[in-house]
Amino acid sequence: MSRPSDAALLELKNLLGPKGFSMDDDVLAQHNAEARGKFYGKAEIILFPARTDEVAKAVAICAAYDIAIVPQGGNTGRCGGAVADQGQVILNLKRMNKITDLDGRDFTVTVEAGAILKSIHDAAATHDLLFPLSLGAEGSCQIGGNLATNAGGLNVIRYGNTRDLVLGLEVVLPDGSIWDGLSKLRKDNTGYDLRHLFIGAEGTLGIITKATLKLFPQPKHIATAWVAVPTPDAALDLLALARRDSGDAIAAFELMSSFAHDTSVTHLPNITRPLASNTDWHVLIELTSSRPGDDLNTLLIDILDTAMTAGFATDATVVQSDAQRKNLWAIREGIPEAQGFEGASIKHDVSVPVSKVPDLLTRGMTAAKDLIPGIRPCPFGHVGDGNIHFNFSQPTDMAKPDYLARWEDLNRVIHDIVTDLGGSISAEHGIGRLKRDELAHYASAEKMKLLRAIKTAIDPDDRLNPGKVI
Ligand SMILES: Cc1cc2nc3c(=O)[nH]c(=O)nc-3n(C[C@H](O)[C@H](O)[C@H](O)COP(=O)(O)OP(=O)(O)OC[C@H]3O[C@@H](n4cnc5c(N)ncnc54)[C@H](O)[C@@H]3O)c2cc1C
Repeated sequence: MSRPSDAALLELKNLLGPKGFSMDDDVLAQHNAEARGKFYGKAEIILFPARTDEVAKAVAICAAYDIAIVPQGGNTGRCGGAVADQGQVILNLKRMNKITDLDGRDFTVTVEAGAILKSIHDAAATHDLLFPLSLGAEGSCQIGGNLATNAGGLNVIRYGNTRDLVLGLEVVLPDGSIWDGLSKLRKDNTGYDLRHLFIGAEGTLGIITKATLKLFPQPKHIATAWVAVPTPDAALDLLALARRDSGDAIAAFELMSSFAHDTSVTHLPNITRPLASNTDWHVLIELTSSRPGDDLNTLLIDILDTAMTAGFATDATVVQSDAQRKNLWAIREGIPEAQGFEGASIKHDVSVPVSKVPDLLTRGMTAAKDLIPGIRPCPFGHVGDGNIHFNFSQPTDMAKPDYLARWEDLNRVIHDIVTDLGGSISAEHGIGRLKRDELAHYASAEKMKLLRAIKTAIDPDDRLNPGKVI
């Protein structure tokens, strides 16, 4: 597709003014880049509208000139969803970053879509409240991107996915009209729940411009432990025990293979190894409570004592300071970065029913080693949600390009096992461009028919984020 016409560019420039429009090479390079370097965008224009009506008018202009739009937030996504082809226009929401209403009685906050996730945490905290969506990119991703990808993150076991945290949305539709679905209602059974169409749609159905989100009491007590477990099965036994004995106070429950742990501990700066003993599997467990007077550390120590007696754990340490807690989270959250020091990696973001995680790990690691001898599995993830980041580092004696050439073969092997176990080939990062063909391969004909029917009903001319998801 060729570049948008001069007439279209003039209308967009006149609408948005100098701050709302860029064709600068440096700016474009930043917004055309994609984190994994797997795709490179080719947009020659990027729009930065400041208000919903500007988004709506820009979309209407693009519709009139038959220009496709790629919505973009913080551009931290991992699936190539915010990458634009030649002739397409990026519409980035970063100037729409206001927090417009924080309500301590409704326990809600209303925000513009370009608000950085961390800024919502900070705003809630000043009112002694919590917005619980938490993930590694929270300092740069926007809530609009989190909504569009239905992000998961570290606290899903307690609070649910982004989808579970939303009461209402405002969305600009592909023809430039605005659907005002902002609402603070907890109960509203008036027909199809439209907000859920746009959450997880990755910008293919509408541009999210505002959202009303749920807030929760700010935790007053946090107890965190690093636990050595002999097997993933034992980790699940520990999880069940901890859920029961803590009154479901678990806010996070992360599993890591020894390779994942060792990689972080070896390559990241200023990390202290949590346990002296060696183990094949590690768990990071965190309990939280907002109840005054709770003694979560004692509760967690009791749970871990019971777990050790039962053989679910072999060693553990409960943190005594914020610095120790930060060290544990740095190990867990630093795994993807640290894995970069081990050469090329092939990654899968998959989920299975929680009870099937041990099967997934055993079958997946065996099959991968059969396919590529010497491959080094690096699984870790939010095991409390059945979500494993099933990463694999290259064999030490294999050339990087040779290993990466096996990407699709390894995907097929792992995704076949995931599907056989009743799982999903995308747990939390979405489909974007990266997994579009995989979705078509694994989804039922009925599901694909419904997805296409929804896309056609809302965006019949395929103007919003074409080529993504379906
Ligand atoms: C270090 C790191 C750790 C991460 N950890 C996790 C994790 O634990 N759990 C998890 O779920 N994810 C995780 N992610 C992925 C993260 O969820 C996404 O990167 C983030 O949600 C995307 O937000 P963004 O603003 O950067 O969106 P972008 O990357 O800009 O866009 C992502 C998609 O959303 C669309 N989009 C963006 N804004 C809008 C809008 N306003 N309206 C409509 N469509 C829009 C884009 O078109 C694109 O398809 C991690 C990412 C990083 C970099």
